[in-house]
Amino acid sequence: MIDVTILQRYLPASVKNALKPYYRKMFPNQLCINFMVTFRCNYRCSYCPWVTRFSYSNIYTKEKEPTVEAWIGALDKLPRANIYISGGEPFLYDGMPELINGLKKHKILGLVTNATVKTAVYERIKKKMHLNVSYHSEFVNDDQFISKIDELRRIGRFHININLVATRKNIQMIQGLEEILKDHNVSLHIDPFVDPDTAFVYTQEEMLILSRYLASDRSSLNMLDFTSYTKKECSAGQNYINLMPDGTVFRCVGGSDYFHSPLKKRLLTMGPDAPYDPDFFLMGNLFAPDFKLDKSPVYCCLPCTAACDQDMATIKWLRNNK
Ligand code: SF4
Repeated sequence: MIDVTILQRYLPASVKNALKPYYRKMFPNQLCINFMVTFRCNYRCSYCPWVTRFSYSNIYTKEKEPTVEAWIGALDKLPRANIYISGGEPFLYDGMPELINGLKKHKILGLVTNATVKTAVYERIKKKMHLNVSYHSEFVNDDQFISKIDELRRIGRFHININLVATRKNIQMIQGLEEILKDHNVSLHIDPFVDPDTAFVYTQEEMLILSRYLASDRSSLNMLDFTSYTKKECSAGQNYINLMPDGTVFRCVGGSDYFHSPLKKRLLTMGPDAPYDPDFFLMGNLFAPDFKLDKSPVYCCLPCTAACDQDMATIKWLRNNK
C-alpha cells in the first residue's frame, strides 16, 4: 500500500502540492484527522481567525487539554489515520514531542508551527516528519527566521516547507523570501489571504505577482465561495474529521467555524433553506465511550469555506441540488 508519509518525505514540495487536489482519489478510504491540539499561541497574527480575531483559546482552554497518555489512548481507538497537527501553536501543548512519538498506530501527515519554541523541544521528536513552518513577518525578521530554519534542518529528521499567507503586506516580500529560501534549499508555499468579513480582493497588480507563486493546490482563488449553497455529497465525518483541543469532533474545519465563529455564523442565516443548524457539524467527543465515525457520506448545502477541508474530504457538488 502507498504510504502518504513516505511520499511526503521524498517528493519535492512543488510535486506534493500539485498532487494535493487528487489526494482523496489516491487514498479514498484512509481516515484523515485535522488535529487542532491547542488554540493557544504566542503570536497574534492580525489575520488569524482562531487566535486573534475570536480567541478560540477562551473556549478550548489549557485546562481542558487532555494529557499525552489520554490522547494516545483515545486516538488508538480510531482506525489507522493520517494526522495533520495544527492550532494555535502546537508546541505550546505540553508534551507535543512525546505525543508525536507515542502515536504508533497512526501516521503524522505534517505539523504546522511558527518555529518559536526552543530547538531542544523539536529535538525530542524521534520520528521523521514534515514540518510546515509558517513565517509571520509581523513578529520575526528574515535573519532570525532563517537561522531557526537552519537549526531545525540540522536535526535531520524534518522535511521542511515554509508557509506564507499572502496578505497585502506580505505580497511585497514573497520574491525576496523565495530567493533567500532557495539559497537554503527550502521550499515556499503561498496561501492566498481570504477574508469573508471584508470580502477582500487582490488588485490586478497583486494578482500578477501572486499568480507566479500559487501552487496548483491553491491556484484557484474561487475554490472558496462564501455564497454557494449548492448541495454537496461529502465524506467529512466518515473518512475525515476535525479534532479540537478538548476532544470535541467536528466533521470539518468549516463546520467548527459555523459552530463557533461569529464571522461564519452569519452564513447560516442566508441561502435558500436558512436558517441552517450548526449542530449538523458536531459529531461528539472522541473521549465519549459511544463516539463513532459516520458510515456514509452526508449532504451539506453550506458554503465549504476551508481550503483544508477541500483537500481532505471527498466532496461531490450535486447538479440541480438533487
Ligand atoms: S461540504 Fe464542506 S462544509 Fe460541508 S460538510 Fe463537507 S467539508 Fe464541511
